Amino acid sequence: MPEAVLPQPTAATEVENIDVLIVGAGISGVGAAYHLTTQRPGTRYVVLEAQDTFGGTWTTHRYPGIRSDSDLHTFGYRFKPWTGKPIATAAEILSYMGEVIAENGLDRHIRYRHRISSAAWSSVENRWTVEAIDLANGETRRFSAGLLYMCQGYYRHAPGYTPEWPEMASFKGRIVHPQAWPQDLDLAGKRVVVIGSGATAATLVPAVADSCAHVTMLQRSPTYFIPARNANDLADQLRQLQIDESWIHEIVRKRILHDQAAFTKRCFAEPDKVREELLAGVRAYLGPDHPIEPHFSPSYRPWRQRIAFVPDGDLFRGIRAGKASVVTDEIARFVGNGIELKSGAVLEADVIVTATGFDLCPDGDIALTVDGKRVAMADTVTWRGMMFTGLPNFVWVFGYFRASWTLRADLVADFVCRLLGHMERRQARRVEVALRPEDRDMKILPWIDDENFNPGYILRGQHVLPRRGEKPEWQHTQDYWTEKDVFPKIDLDDRAFVYG
Ligand SMILES: Cc1cc2nc3c(=O)[nH]c(=O)nc-3n(C[C@H](O)[C@H](O)[C@H](O)COP(=O)(O)OP(=O)(O)OC[C@H]3O[C@@H](n4cnc5c(N)ncnc54)[C@H](O)[C@@H]3O)c2cc1C
Repeated sequence: MPEAVLPQPTAATEVENIDVLIVGAGISGVGAAYHLTTQRPGTRYVVLEAQDTFGGTWTTHRYPGIRSDSDLHTFGYRFKPWTGKPIATAAEILSYMGEVIAENGLDRHIRYRHRISSAAWSSVENRWTVEAIDLANGETRRFSAGLLYMCQGYYRHAPGYTPEWPEMASFKGRIVHPQAWPQDLDLAGKRVVVIGSGATAATLVPAVADSCAHVTMLQRSPTYFIPARNANDLADQLRQLQIDESWIHEIVRKRILHDQAAFTKRCFAEPDKVREELLAGVRAYLGPDHPIEPHFSPSYRPWRQRIAFVPDGDLFRGIRAGKASVVTDEIARFVGNGIELKSGAVLEADVIVTATGFDLCPDGDIALTVDGKRVAMADTVTWRGMMFTGLPNFVWVFGYFRASWTLRADLVADFVCRLLGHMERRQARRVEVALRPEDRDMKILPWIDDENFNPGYILRGQHVLPRRGEKPEWQHTQDYWTEKDVFPKIDLDDRAFVYG
């Protein structure tokens, strides 16, 4: 295995010189480290991670049942076969990531408990000066990096998002956010209300149903679910034939991505038919005693929000067994013993879980400056959802909503490695994207078209996200199937790239 050059930590007062600084050791940051190591041996790089271990999302979230909602054949990296069940627990994902780190010697590049506070670009030096607090001792560490590789994820890891409901303080029980799950929380004999009906709620409800007195999922509006066996028949058949795991990984990924492309197309072409199929899937698991209306019949067309996969239909089995139930209503206010709904009913609770989503944070709370001027990501226009006008030598990973995040992390990593090679050949020290003369009249729009995809956390956070142009190269198109072919052929001498 080729080895990237390992920078040595310096004293607190010194500046450590590196080629690439990777922000975050989640699935994107660890993937970035792997690709730099294997595709660009000799690169001096460091991964700075605020938490005390790798994993990002899969370390932050410790609520009962925490698991992926997309299959690990595609959420797993392109380069390391996934051999388990398609839907995996956080522990399984962490173990897989741990193997990637150990097998490739990536741990020596990762510095944990380093929270990056600022990154300042200097056009004189053509470098980023990055400051990080070493959380172990409070000292500030300084790095001078040629490229800032942002793998910070899309939400703030510290608190989750909890709306302010009237009279929350009057509730006598405990209010818990899934992002900060108290490890001492004992739900035995408790009445639990989970607010929300996204993937987190759909995971939590069946996971606690057996251990608490009763769990209620309180939703303002219904969500689409796909309940199905947590198995991949094709993978199982190939395994029976003793096909090599790396082949199985490749074939099963191709199959899943083929089927997902067809499904996504159908959601736009024949939304009513897809809707009926999705509802029929839920009906089959719910049984005749639990009608689809009003709790499982969303008003929007499929795929305008993420569709949660429910492995083995566990959410619906809990409902059938009477251990879990669903209420579709709005919160009027909190009361001492629970939640008063707009219908007038009171949902009694001892514990309320606010599975209400995330606090969007596109810059990892890093104060970005360019030549002394503060740059907010919202002031930039994105080039293919990975580079931004006004931010030189800066690449950012934002995955897919309708396909696994990691598919894009791998594609962006290939692009970064190619770009670094191209800069080396051109002897360029700076690259920035800029609107070309032909882009002058292009409309500049918010990050995402809310007609296309509109989950609450994106709509709440559009104002902090970069803007997009009308042309696909000035957007994060969310279209893996086009990007997988387009990205490797991106013309790095296109006029959108300005080198220096
Ligand atoms: C509960 C949950 C389930 C999900 N399930 C799926 C799924 O099944 N499939 C899917 O495709 N997507 C899923 N997602 C989306 C998910 O966030 C991504 O798929 C993926 O894990 C993101 O990886 P990442 O490495 O880009 O970011 P993250 O996992 O968010 O990791 C970013 C890391 O960067 C660190 N960091 C951030 N800022 C700084 C800073 N200033 N200094 C130092 N370190 C910093 C953070 O501490 C964190 O460790 C899920 C999200 C959640 C919350």
